[in-house]
Amino acid sequence: MTLAGNRWDDALTDNVHPSDWRNPSPQALYDLVVIGGGTAGLISASGAAGLGARVALVERQHMGGDCLNVGCVPSKALLRSGHLAAELRDAERFGVSGTGEAQVDFGAVMERMRKVRARISPVDSVKRYQEELSVDVFLGDARFAGEREVVVGDDRLRFKKAIIATGGRPFQPPIDGLADAGYLTNETIFDLTERPRHLLVIGGGPIGCELSQAFRRFGSRVTLVEQGPQFLAREDPDAAAVLQRALEYDGVDLRLGTAVTKVQRQADDIVGVTLERDGEAETLTVDTLLVAVGRVPNVEGLGLEAAGVEFDTRRGVLVDDGLRTTNKRIFAAGDVCMEHRFTHAADYAARIAIQNALFFGRKKLSQLNIPWCTYTSPEIAHVGLYERDAQAQGTPLDTWTRELAEVDRAIAEGDDEGFVKIHTRKGSDKILGATIVARNAGDLISEISVAMAAGMGLGGLSNVIHPYPTQADAIRQTGGAYMRTRLTPFAARVLGLLLRLQR
Ligand code: NAD
Repeated sequence: MTLAGNRWDDALTDNVHPSDWRNPSPQALYDLVVIGGGTAGLISASGAAGLGARVALVERQHMGGDCLNVGCVPSKALLRSGHLAAELRDAERFGVSGTGEAQVDFGAVMERMRKVRARISPVDSVKRYQEELSVDVFLGDARFAGEREVVVGDDRLRFKKAIIATGGRPFQPPIDGLADAGYLTNETIFDLTERPRHLLVIGGGPIGCELSQAFRRFGSRVTLVEQGPQFLAREDPDAAAVLQRALEYDGVDLRLGTAVTKVQRQADDIVGVTLERDGEAETLTVDTLLVAVGRVPNVEGLGLEAAGVEFDTRRGVLVDDGLRTTNKRIFAAGDVCMEHRFTHAADYAARIAIQNALFFGRKKLSQLNIPWCTYTSPEIAHVGLYERDAQAQGTPLDTWTRELAEVDRAIAEGDDEGFVKIHTRKGSDKILGATIVARNAGDLISEISVAMAAGMGLGGLSNVIHPYPTQADAIRQTGGAYMRTRLTPFAARVLGLLLRLQR
């Protein structure tokens, strides 16, 4: 996962999996044993130890898990370079020239990403957990040897409670020839040192869309293949349409409703990929393949049977709403058991798991209102219900939309492709969900999350003064649209009468 001999990756490894690490001698009994040192595991371990529990954490690979090593952190560092390349490309639109053709030094982009990752890594380091947070850190493979015991190498860790936080891994689709031809996933793409000439991405979810846009902006030819009718399948269709236009503008070759039927390596750096759409086949030759078609939970080899923990290989460890498994002493959190595979979801799930495991808590996963964001440009962020969810539940909605093409700051910035869309319960201002498509949608959505958490309705939001001109003002304006509908013909007549009486 990292480049040995690269100074930043060596620094990262020293933090997240030091080669000279010696596991501590196990204590006689732990209050909590945590398996997995990704977000859910780290938050579980540090949270429990901070409250005075004796905690052991076992990690087989890298502390920080996917997010730090092969997910959010490296991808966002790359996207930043991609966004900058796009700004330079479009500079003349803003009357700025002299930049010439933007030159992307791919090696330097990747080196910056490594540096960013190394810089953030001390927070998740083995040393910090062991020395500062008083967590016993064991590097190695953990396996349950019974209902109250985990084995790591020759060490036996007896526990009162345990949390399984082993995460997931990329799903390998059953495509003829794919495994033999070789391909990249999010676990290996960040090791590239040379820019692909032609990158073919299979899967138009968040990983596929974010990385397609970034690599296109770095100068690779990019083909993005999605079997379904829409990129970001679960997003609002209007949001996906804006993203589709943005990817087209960047020059990504988009193939919707298209299946990859065969992959064949033809030479060291040439792979033939057969695509099929509406019965028509076509073969492209590319040098690099990225597979991003979803993830599967890591449940194998953990001895879950010995612990009495039920699981299935698709949904992962089976948990109730309190994140308790079928063994009442064992809980799970994060991608190994949850539908929402996000770092922030894993973080809050871990908080629920430790409260319920150690402090007789009655917290529920279903009480969390989890927002999310895809960091393309523009970003697509969402919280709460989608229109289709409401329809499925039989909950009638009103939908309030403000296009960024009507928002002064968005127009001034040249960022006017996007919108704020807020769903309220029909006939009331109670906010049930929202989608924002904007340059900083991931930041803007938190305003809606705060309103929902505080029980503030859309009418209340319309009374919150926003600085002019800002993109966030679009949220207040959406509230304004709601308030105007409150002005019934009767109320308008009464107000008109009052004004006339004062003349
Ligand atoms: P995903 O499941 O979100 O999307 C995969 C896409 O691949 C789907 O649209 C599916 O229709 C398509 N697909 C499946 N098989 C295919 C095939 N054979 N040919 C063509 N298309 C195919 O998966 P992902 O993008 O790999 O992301 C994995 C997880 O990581 C998700 O849960 C995602 O939410 C999370 N993630 C989130 C972010 C973010 O929030 N910014 C970023 C990256 C990843």
